[in-house]
Amino acid sequence: MNTAAPIPPESSNPESAQPEAAAPSFFQTLCQALRGVCPRCKQGKIFETWRDLSPRETCPVCALPLGKHDNGDGPAVFLIFILGVAIVPLALIADRLFTIPLWVHGVLWTGLALILCVAMLRPLKSYIITLQYRHLPRTFEGSDDPS
Ligand SMILES: [Zn+2]
Repeated sequence: MNTAAPIPPESSNPESAQPEAAAPSFFQTLCQALRGVCPRCKQGKIFETWRDLSPRETCPVCALPLGKHDNGDGPAVFLIFILGVAIVPLALIADRLFTIPLWVHGVLWTGLALILCVAMLRPLKSYIITLQYRHLPRTFEGSDDPS
């Protein structure tokens, strides 16, 4: 008969337990993305200038490699779907409520879609990089991030 106490799993050993940082909330991540800051240090800017749509090669503060995480056209595709779902019903409702010439619809909704797309592209790219850093930290290999 075995009377030895079972060995607890390693994760429940209080000596080997490491304190886990609380995961940032959705709102914190969104604010971070709107500011366009590095997901690790939250100080360095992801984009060099306000016109850039590609991230810097590395964060100027913590040297996190950001350049290889350019998510390309992914955010643009999300925006097409999101803005399409938002703008097309607005156009249909406006057409139903008001008598608007067709050329005004073309100018109004195309212009609105372009403005919103340009305004939302960088924050969405920044948001996706931040999510990538949080959920797939191993893809940032080469960094000295312990997570
Ligand atoms: Zn950084």
